[in-house]
Amino acid sequence: MISRAQPFGAQRSLFSANCRIRRHSSTQTNHNWGPRQANPDAAKDEVATLATSPRRPLTLADLLKHGRPPLSKDALLASANFTLSLLPARLASRIQALRNLPFIVVSNPHVSKIYHNYLHSFSTLLPYQQRRITTLEEEQRFGDVLADLVQTHANTIPVLARGFLECRKYVNPEDVTRFLDTHLRARIGTRLIAEQHLALHFASQPVGEEPKNSSEPPKPKESIPSNYIGVIDTALQPARIIRLCEDFVGEICELKYGVRPRLEIGGEPEAAFAHIPVHVEYIITELLKNAFRATIESGNEREPIEVTIAAAPDVPGNERPIQGDTDVGFELDEAMGSPNASSQSITIRIRDRGGGIPPEVLPHIWSYSFTTFSDMDFRGSENGNLDALNTIAASGGHLSSIAGLGYGLPLSRAYAEYFGGSIAVQSLWGWGTDVYLTLQGVGKID
Ligand code: ADP
Ligand code: MG
Repeated sequence: MISRAQPFGAQRSLFSANCRIRRHSSTQTNHNWGPRQANPDAAKDEVATLATSPRRPLTLADLLKHGRPPLSKDALLASANFTLSLLPARLASRIQALRNLPFIVVSNPHVSKIYHNYLHSFSTLLPYQQRRITTLEEEQRFGDVLADLVQTHANTIPVLARGFLECRKYVNPEDVTRFLDTHLRARIGTRLIAEQHLALHFASQPVGEEPKNSSEPPKPKESIPSNYIGVIDTALQPARIIRLCEDFVGEICELKYGVRPRLEIGGEPEAAFAHIPVHVEYIITELLKNAFRATIESGNEREPIEVTIAAAPDVPGNERPIQGDTDVGFELDEAMGSPNASSQSITIRIRDRGGGIPPEVLPHIWSYSFTTFSDMDFRGSENGNLDALNTIAASGGHLSSIAGLGYGLPLSRAYAEYFGGSIAVQSLWGWGTDVYLTLQGVGKID
């Protein structure tokens, strides 16, 4: 099975390199407070209090302000404390929501695994709740905890999907949809907050070297592209991500079907804006999987998939509100620089000749778990989702199956809407499908 390509070279490889270094260092340093004091029982008591604690709205400007180069020691510590002021309450809110699910759902082993992941992450953050991070050594240990948090929740969507699939007979589908939508949108935000600080944390560390003492300011990392502020790429070109995703999805198609459709990019391939590469990559991968699969299964693999990129005119005031999530929404606000901070949008149309979507299927395409995919390699199973889940499990948790989870469209929409974008599907039944993905730039970064 293919494991997911990591196309964002500098950011990603830096991340993993430093993960190893930091992980190593955490076992050698002996502080009198830190993640080792994590106590799951204390965590249980704190959950209810924090889950209902008042929270101030988070703005995108908050995320950006700590990361502007040059990165100083004060900015790094401020970012750590800011991250710490947000994450425990967000995790507590998710734990509480999982607890509120019907007993038969929470006691499902897969849902229970997710619940315990959250409880574990929450308990590792609790010791940091008591006081502020004031030294670089404390920040380093906090970085370890954050890396563990991001890793713990990294490939959990198939687990969550399997849990809810197994419980579907016993619960109201609308309740499940409501829970999953809130949960997955909150997950996007929580990961973003953690990854943003981690990106700054790793940027401040020379690879292979430990800071000698806490008064030493972090050294800027030369290999980080200057257009990055944490995880935000201020000059992101969707066309480049489309090509990387095309390679990945093409590879899956070759293995599964023995063919790989062509993809043509037209419109404005040079268009660029500020956005979060991992979000764009997730969405494009899912949309290309759908287009490639339909094209091949309809026998039209000779017809290219046409991708057209169009940048909206950059008119101040045309930005859409940030939807965010119900835990803490992101907002574009006056702190972005001006009340009319421009956030140029880019629309990407993906046009396939895959025969379109049957009218009886169309009303269901946005539902979590809905799929028309059934992998005949797994004969004997009556359900496409479980087939795909088996495929994904066999691949070590990476979403490298062409389809079958039924999360591609609804989760892509959640990602697009997080920063005020949208996805619209237009099917020409008997011919093909057009998908319009509009992504809102995450603000002008001066
Ligand atoms: P999955 O791909 O795992 O089935 P998705 O949420 O990505 O889940 O898509 C749901 C369903 O929508 C697919 O199973 C398929 O029936 C339909 N669909 C989505 N995109 C297309 C497309 N481009 N052409 C035809 N059908 C599509
Ligand atoms: Mg799909």
